[in-house]
Parts: sequence; structure tokens; C-alpha cells
Amino acid sequence: MQTFGLVHLDSEALEASFPEFRPYIGKCRFRDCRHDSEPDCALREAAESGKFEVKRLRQFLDFRTECELGRRQAQGW
Ligand SMILES: [Zn+2]
Repeated sequence: MQTFGLVHLDSEALEASFPEFRPYIGKCRFRDCRHDSEPDCALREAAESGKFEVKRLRQFLDFRTECELGRRQAQGW
């Protein structure tokens, strides 16, 4: 349950840090989209059509990677 809480907190923190992504989150073809190399990714399409900077999407992916690494360390992996 603690792990679930952490995951939830991370995704909220991500959305709070990138409010311009909010309209696109959940619009990807795949529900578990990583917004990286998946086809029909709503976030990537928005970035590529100039809704926000592609740089911001990179920052989002980096931030998420850091969260995941931090979580792994917290669990002692
Ligand atoms: Zn996506």
C-alpha cells in the first residue's frame, strides 16, 4: 500500500510540475503509454505540433526517470 501511495504521489507531482500536459494525459493510444517511443502518443503529438516545447517533454521523461530511480533506491534494489 505504501508503494502504491508513492506511485500516486509521483504522478501527481509530475502533473503539477507540467500543467500544460494535463489536457493530453490519458489521451494516448495506450493507457500505459511511456510518452517515449509509443505510436499515437498524445503528448508527443502535442509537442510536435507546437502545443508546448519538445524540450518540456524531455524534461518530463527525465523527471519521471529520476522518480523511478529514487523509488527503486528507497526499496533497496
Ligand atoms: Zn503518451
